[in-house]
Amino acid sequence: MLSRIVIVGAGQAATQAATSLRAGGYNGQLVLLGNEGLLPYQRPPLSKAYLSGAMGLDRVILKPLEAWAEDKVEVHLDAEVTRLDRAAKSVTTANGQTFAYDKLILATGSRVRALPCPGADLAGVHYLRSIADADGLGQELGAGKRLVVIGGGYIGLEVAAVARKAGLEVTILEAAPRVLARVAPPVISDFFQKLHRDAGVTILTDVKVTALEGTKHVTGVALADGRSIAADLVLVGIGIIPNADLAREAGLKAEDGIETDEDARTSDPSIFAIGDCASRPLVHYGHRRARLESVHNALEQAKLAAAAILGLPRPVEEAPWFWSDQYDIKLQIAGLSTGATQSVVRGDPSQKRFAVFHLDSENRLLAVDAINAPPEFIVGKQVIARHGQLAPARLADMSVSMKEIGASA
Ligand code: NAP
Repeated sequence: MLSRIVIVGAGQAATQAATSLRAGGYNGQLVLLGNEGLLPYQRPPLSKAYLSGAMGLDRVILKPLEAWAEDKVEVHLDAEVTRLDRAAKSVTTANGQTFAYDKLILATGSRVRALPCPGADLAGVHYLRSIADADGLGQELGAGKRLVVIGGGYIGLEVAAVARKAGLEVTILEAAPRVLARVAPPVISDFFQKLHRDAGVTILTDVKVTALEGTKHVTGVALADGRSIAADLVLVGIGIIPNADLAREAGLKAEDGIETDEDARTSDPSIFAIGDCASRPLVHYGHRRARLESVHNALEQAKLAAAAILGLPRPVEEAPWFWSDQYDIKLQIAGLSTGATQSVVRGDPSQKRFAVFHLDSENRLLAVDAINAPPEFIVGKQVIARHGQLAPARLADMSVSMKEIGASA
């Protein structure tokens, strides 16, 4: 019988792993090591309802201490793991505590990519990853202030929406020719650009930030074309870097993220990696390897790891999915559009309710981006998972319901 499983990390993946291990019948020791001083919490609200003040800390924390105690999980906070000794099967924290393991789950997450330019350490320059970050930014979101957002990804757009609603003047600076370029097709980028501009946000694309200006506190953002954008505060959201160093230094395979197999197992059979830090083969996409930065991925990989550790059947994998809330818009994405040869728009973007379906050359559905269109998202997600084919003309025809479309795929 296993005696001790150690989970490194205290995010959504780590929490789900502990829950799934107990639900799956594991009754040995379970240790969770988190490097922050807070119980595990969810990150999605940090750039939305938590930042706006609509959601309190109690609802962001995933479960209270009593629930962890009930599940007999030994939770250590402020316990940053700095060393993994695979030969001794142990991990050691910065404060010198060593924990032996029979199985180890790395749920180390990711860290923000730092802005590589002068002035990036001025006061008033914020990143958004942790509750402390959200609290720091939230305290400065006063009406009438000028916020410059660097990066038009999810973080940038979601914070822009919250800040605009709070009465700030907001400018988004994006290096690519359009916002959300990494995660969405042009029609979705256009939609969000219009949405934000209609709300009064200024969006500059194809711009390169060369410096943040100011002496102690930031006062502006200098661009390569010579312009300077005045700023009372700056938010940087230019992507994340997986926390894979611990694994890499211990000799595990980890280029862009810690490499795992379909069971979330790393190149060491006693060690699993889940969530943002892991790169996994995608069963619905020819087993090509990718690192997915999403809650769904964190939860799914946690369940895969728990099942593999306990020798239970592998859970059926869903198509990957993501969501974002901005103003009154819900974006839901299912699947990955890489390799698509055609896109079909269903519905009318001007009505703020539509979806974009991405198909391969054999009309197989690879991904769907749905704007305020839950049926398109739900049916699309199911069709992707069963590798179904869809006729483009039927998809575009709003007189055919998604139920009918799904049934015929
Ligand atoms: P992201 O989604 O990777 O977007 C970063 C954006 O910043 C990209 O468009 C990137 O363009 C751009 N960029 C990079 N360097 C830049 C520079 N020097 N100047 C201006 N723009 C630059 O990352 P994020 O928005 O920072 O989010 C961080 C993580 O949180 C991601 O994992 C994200 O998925 C997650 N998150 C998710 C949600 C959600 O799912 N709703 C919400 C918030 C956060 P290039 O692609 O061209 O580099």
